[in-house]
Amino acid sequence: MPTTAIIIGAGPAGCAVAIALADRGHRASLIGAAGVRRTWAGETLPPGAGDLVTSLFGDQVLDDAVHNPAYGVRAAWGSDDLTTTDFIAHPDGDGWHLDRAAFDARLAQTAAARGVEVITDHVRTVTRDGDQWEVAASDRSLRGEWVVDATGRGGGPFRSLAGAKHVYDQQVALVALAQRGRSALAMTTIETVPDGWWYSTPLPDGRVVMALVTDSDLAPQGDARAPWWHTRLRASRHISRLGEFPSATPPTVHAAGTGHRDRLWGEGWALAGDAAISWDPLSSQGLVTAILMGSRLGAAIGRCSTGDSDALPEWERDYFMLRDEHLGLRSYYWSTEERWIGHAFWDRRRGVSPS
Ligand SMILES: Cc1cc2nc3c(=O)[nH]c(=O)nc-3n(C[C@H](O)[C@H](O)[C@H](O)COP(=O)(O)OP(=O)(O)OC[C@H]3O[C@@H](n4cnc5c(N)ncnc54)[C@H](O)[C@@H]3O)c2cc1C
Repeated sequence: MPTTAIIIGAGPAGCAVAIALADRGHRASLIGAAGVRRTWAGETLPPGAGDLVTSLFGDQVLDDAVHNPAYGVRAAWGSDDLTTTDFIAHPDGDGWHLDRAAFDARLAQTAAARGVEVITDHVRTVTRDGDQWEVAASDRSLRGEWVVDATGRGGGPFRSLAGAKHVYDQQVALVALAQRGRSALAMTTIETVPDGWWYSTPLPDGRVVMALVTDSDLAPQGDARAPWWHTRLRASRHISRLGEFPSATPPTVHAAGTGHRDRLWGEGWALAGDAAISWDPLSSQGLVTAILMGSRLGAAIGRCSTGDSDALPEWERDYFMLRDEHLGLRSYYWSTEERWIGHAFWDRRRGVSPS
């Protein structure tokens, strides 16, 4: 029996859920916020993720006229020197440096082409009426048996149903775009510093993202933030050489914490992507997991509507297994940086209490 689902948020997770449902003959409406100007964090798809994207969405999504191949990662982590991981030796080949706005727009177009009703609007309220949900956006209302919250890290309509949010850190990324410097390469560069770690990623439009990941309480607020950030950029050994700023551009602040909700689904609702579990940006895992588990969620809702009561518990169990692996890997990477003793960002990650 086909079901009707309303998916809120037309990012990678929402598109993956909607397409998986439509492919199985269900009625999926995808509502994405209109006119939202977003700044992107310079996302990279790691090796292998391109194959997943192509297998789920088709080969028109990763157009190499729009996105650039990523040839590796260089990291000064645990040492002043850069160590290069070149993807040429990787069995899954290169990764991708994405134009995120173009990537998301292409996913939404693909969803429309696969039979999803794509609506550009902003959801205001979600209410339960008998066994249906009523989703009210700015310009219209929709009714459906299922609602999926794929609105990203902010926490959307199911905050209370999904229980507490477990947060493992208070990370933020302070992100600015620079002109590409002479030393910039087609790879991401990472460098640890006393206040956290920097990354720089080339964008397909020729600029570079320069981002400092730190804890929210360690960076000053307001007008003091930009000079603090630029001072730390100049003090970095490698990152400072990769981009050039015409002026002291202020960084934008992106939430970059790791966390998850208590429950990822309930009667007629589920969470997808960062709304369910958000990952440390160090892992470059956010997009690929949002897409993989979003697609699996669409399949699980389809199974559930035919009376398969195991589908959603299995999906949630696997999602939490990924979280456990992620937390283990994150701890391992932190343990390999043994410098910066006495600095709050690193002491917290070693379990040292502040004195
Ligand atoms: C600093 C940083 C660096 C990162 N680097 C990488 C990386 O290199 N590689 C990687 O794979 N991942 C990376 N990530 C993670 C990645 O950005 C996210 O995991 C990914 O965007 C999650 O996709 P999503 O669809 O769940 O959410 P989002 O991409 O946040 O999409 C949510 C969508 O919902 C819409 N929305 C919100 N509220 C409403 C509403 N009320 N009504 C309608 N629409 C709404 C938003 O406009 C948005 O389009 C990084 C994250 C950060 C913070």
